[in-house]
Amino acid sequence: MIFDIMTLFPELVDNILGESIIGRAQQSGAIQVKCHNIRDYSEDKHRRVDDTPYGGGKGMLMMAPPIFGCYENILKIRSEITGKRKVVYMSPAGKRLDQDIANELADCEHLIILCGHYEGVDRRIIDEIVDEEISICDYVLTGGEIPACILVDCVSRLVDGVLSAPECYLDESITSGLLEYPQYTRPYEFHGQKVPDVLISGHHENIDKWRKQKSIELTKERRPDLYEKYERRE
Ligand code: SAM
Repeated sequence: MIFDIMTLFPELVDNILGESIIGRAQQSGAIQVKCHNIRDYSEDKHRRVDDTPYGGGKGMLMMAPPIFGCYENILKIRSEITGKRKVVYMSPAGKRLDQDIANELADCEHLIILCGHYEGVDRRIIDEIVDEEISICDYVLTGGEIPACILVDCVSRLVDGVLSAPECYLDESITSGLLEYPQYTRPYEFHGQKVPDVLISGHHENIDKWRKQKSIELTKERRPDLYEKYERRE
């Protein structure tokens, strides 16, 4: 899967996505992530990419032409891609990102992600090139770079070859329909707290039952909305 990210701060994105599992997935070729600096497509001799909003108001808006130039260049260099492509704008006004949206986007061969900054971007570029506006939750950040990294991370986990096996992402909080049960590792005793007996019993059926019970208890307590959905599904 190929992710092309349009941003004014490519190093910010590269630093986050170059590490750990997503970094290794790029090295192995399971995914490709490329940042494109929108400033490189400015038509202004001072490389300006933003201007004041029509009608007045505070802050600066990213202008449409440099973003469009960047987008056209991506289409040109990716002209060999024939699979499903989507263009996403990270925005606090977008649809809220959840596992269903991530599953849907993981079907694409090519995702182009636009990161806004300052007061956001000229509406006309959204209307012209964007398929979906996605928010990472109900708070406002200074830029779309961290939201874009979150989107790339959660979609990439679903791509073949990124995690060692599908069970790694199927048996997880939210994906399984419930929150995950408590987990323990060595040492057996930590600050006077011991690992629950059932987990060292070697009785796999009882372990599975205990884990399911704990998942249900936790989900009921913390996320009654999720539990209701789970019950309807069962
Ligand atoms: N003026 C915009 C508004 O009220 O909707 C907010 C602009 S915000 C300060 C700057 C950029 O950060 C946005 O263009 C968007 O790309 C990104 N951003 C901020 N919060 C976000 C969120 N919750 N989810 C996704 N992107 C976000």
